[in-house]
Amino acid sequence: MEILKIVESLKDEVYSIYNHLHSIPEKSWEEYKTSEFIKGKLEEAGFNVTANVNNTTGIIAVLKGKEDGIVYSVRADMDALMFNVDGAEKAVHACSHDANSTMALAAALAVAKKGIKKGTLKMVFQPAEEVLGGAESMLESGLLSDVDEMVGIHLRPIQEAKLNQATPALSHGASGFMNATIKGLNSHGARPHLGINAIDAGAAIVNAINAIKLNPSVPYSVKTTKFIAGGSAPNVIPDKAEMVFDMRAQTNEAMEELIEKTKQAIINGAKTVGAEVEVEHRGGVPGAAHDKDVVNRTREAIIEVLGEAMDPIITPGGEDFHYYSTKGNIKTAYIGLGADLTPGLHSIDMVYNKEAILTGAKIIAVAVDSRLNS
Ligand SMILES: [Zn+2]
Ligand SMILES: [Zn+2]
Repeated sequence: MEILKIVESLKDEVYSIYNHLHSIPEKSWEEYKTSEFIKGKLEEAGFNVTANVNNTTGIIAVLKGKEDGIVYSVRADMDALMFNVDGAEKAVHACSHDANSTMALAAALAVAKKGIKKGTLKMVFQPAEEVLGGAESMLESGLLSDVDEMVGIHLRPIQEAKLNQATPALSHGASGFMNATIKGLNSHGARPHLGINAIDAGAAIVNAINAIKLNPSVPYSVKTTKFIAGGSAPNVIPDKAEMVFDMRAQTNEAMEELIEKTKQAIINGAKTVGAEVEVEHRGGVPGAAHDKDVVNRTREAIIEVLGEAMDPIITPGGEDFHYYSTKGNIKTAYIGLGADLTPGLHSIDMVYNKEAILTGAKIIAVAVDSRLNS
């Protein structure tokens, strides 16, 4: 049977999977029920499933073809977001990871039904995308070292794509943070010349940060997001300050330059008043680094389902998916799928057209089928 017809025949099951996943939103790293449910479905379909990957809720499931060939992977994320509702912490699927998981799982079930001629399908259901640790954790397991190509999928807000629109190259930017701990010298407010004011150092740093310039052809930004100092007594020159800076750049090369310039701005800013500073780069994610061929083949899959494909969507948000390419050396494409989603991802009031779920399942199924069954 043709793969699209198989997905269509699974329609009722696809929506019952979605409804179930939607009803059990779970916090990052704690996707126990979600993982258990997905594992059951994959095992039923004949996948060889490894659960608790790297001591997490992650799942890696393998379906081998009749002949050896490339290892093609589909990745979905499983975690929900935490919201404070009426004073209580509550997990809500407000980033569509329930839909992302459903689309990937539905495609896996369809491919399993048809079978694979040549090559291997490796499904990855990762935990903790929202806190940006899940992808690295899956890579650290070593179970993805043989993966040649990987696709991911995520619903997009209506501003980026409408229902029945999709891109094979969702291009997130790189993000990162820099911590600065400033050490000055205490003194009496009447004798400031005997001290080094950590607030003066921080002010000089803020100015130096705001003066950073990169090539404007690549979008970037850096800004101060935390500045805590002084306040112990009104007549004491403070000797300590804590600062945090948020950095964004649309390419990984621009991000490297931004990290270096931010570091220098902090050190030089502190130096202007003679303060010492400790700088620490932490967190963040790499930007998209997609493979041209994988993107082109994924574009063909979108065209087969929707008739046409969108150009790359450039989005400033971050995604830990891009560790699979930058750290894992896997050739990737990332599908951004429209669903008339409003008002936006990470909104507790988010709504979208559920038709997109079947569409997304079809696109992934065609992408896998055309790669492993042609
Ligand atoms: Zn999110
Ligand atoms: Zn998300």
